[in-house]
Amino acid sequence: MQITEMLLTNKTARPGIKISPKALVIHWTANENKGANARANRSYFNQPTTEASAHYIVDDKEIIRCLPENEMGYHVGAKSYTPDAQKQLSVYPNNCTIGIEMCVNADGSFQAMYHKTLELVADILTRYKWGIERIWRHHDITGKNCPAFFTADDCAHKYFGTGAADAWNCFKQDIHNLLTSNPQKPQSHVDNCNIQVALPAKGILRAGVSYLPVRMVAEALGGIVGWEADTKRVTVNGQQLDVSIENGIAYAATRKLAAVLGREAVWEQATKTVTLVPKSQNTG
Ligand SMILES: [Zn+2]
Repeated sequence: MQITEMLLTNKTARPGIKISPKALVIHWTANENKGANARANRSYFNQPTTEASAHYIVDDKEIIRCLPENEMGYHVGAKSYTPDAQKQLSVYPNNCTIGIEMCVNADGSFQAMYHKTLELVADILTRYKWGIERIWRHHDITGKNCPAFFTADDCAHKYFGTGAADAWNCFKQDIHNLLTSNPQKPQSHVDNCNIQVALPAKGILRAGVSYLPVRMVAEALGGIVGWEADTKRVTVNGQQLDVSIENGIAYAATRKLAAVLGREAVWEQATKTVTLVPKSQNTG
């Protein structure tokens, strides 16, 4: 399983409040238009006026992580909550749940998206040592018709050919089967995934060499940045780096920065994108 991390930078959707998750909430995007995939939904969450978010968005091609699991998202807010949710979760369930949005864009494969969601849910349950009773529908918490293919019979028939209650039970059974018959090694930290981070400062391309902002990239990848003000020496994980200062930000050559972070830089010419991959994952 691969997770693409594209954390939101929009503060109205990502307040940065720390949470201790107790449960998972399953949603659907309710947008069956072509192109309404995970990236499009993530872009919507990241618009400055959006006050909604979820931790993960899954389509048929990828799983995008929009929020760290220990930060609050705005995915189950409502005027009132079901007695079960108030009793088992909290009086404000956003403050203890991980939200997953399932995409239903017409140009994607529902089956492929469904299987990616199963893998993600199984991984989360494994990491937290939770059983399938920790999986809630949005509907179970607020009464909202979400995800409609697990709450409304007509929608369930369209996607599964069964009623909604059967479809929901089948989803939970599929996860149970994945956990018991085909146990996965838990994905303990994000370094096991390919990471895409939205950086507040852009990289620089000069004479065919790319440069990245040292502190932002290093810290996003768990590196420790050191700075000696008198000698202007910059270190990452204890190794010195040659840097140039632009507008108060230290930049280093991408390849050298990648090396001290135990990664390799892969350059994609068409989009002028650089990806830092763990050394073992770089197959060219
Ligand atoms: Zn929902």
